[in-house]
Amino acid sequence: MKELKRFILVGAPASGIGTLGRCLADTLNLKSLRTGSMLRREIEACTELGRKALSYMDKAMLVPDEIVNEMVRNWLSESDNSGWLLDGYPRTVAQAEALDHFLQERGMSVDAVVYLDVARELIESRIMRRRECSSCGYVVQTPEVESCAKCGGQMVSRKDDNMEAFARRWKDFETMTLPVARYYEARGMVVKLSVTEEREPADVSRDLAQKLEEFSRR
Ligand code: ADP
Repeated sequence: MKELKRFILVGAPASGIGTLGRCLADTLNLKSLRTGSMLRREIEACTELGRKALSYMDKAMLVPDEIVNEMVRNWLSESDNSGWLLDGYPRTVAQAEALDHFLQERGMSVDAVVYLDVARELIESRIMRRRECSSCGYVVQTPEVESCAKCGGQMVSRKDDNMEAFARRWKDFETMTLPVARYYEARGMVVKLSVTEEREPADVSRDLAQKLEEFSRR
């Protein structure tokens, strides 16, 4: 049985991949990097990187590969050799290739790619209800709750959570990120979960645990 400790998560915007990733990271004690949240923190801290990223994120566009690649490389270089999980990266095939190259140079590789496949209509109905904690990134589907259950921070609606921005992000997902899933599928690295109706995150997590176990025995 192969030990799985380096993961990539792939999922459409608002697919629930972030929640699933947090669960997986907690269970396997993995360090996790969510590139979207890290970019938002850079913007809040008014760093050079944040300044560069802002103009793209404001328009719900992907931030250029070079900027994100460097940010992820720095994070990976600082993390020790234990397990990790990347959520929101790679988002383009060029990013996947850059990551592979970086890991290869260090004698490492990704162990499994979790692909959460969710119907578009389901995501559209969720997106209008989503709120995110401005300090710790915790996400809920209850717009009426104002403070974070995890850290007490303020729950806010994200600027890019509206139908127009969603349509754009969905298009980017189909044209740029689905090919990432195919890139890893061709290498036999994908564990795919399909969701066609609303389900409890805990149920989806249980399915994932089972599929990962099967995958590790292959
Ligand atoms: P969502 O899951 O709703 O797409 P994220 O929090 O993952 O949101 O990302 C928010 C924004 O951050 C994206 O719309 C994009 O502009 C930027 N971003 C995050 N990760 C990447 C990446 N790997 N490559 C390029 N841009 C990224």
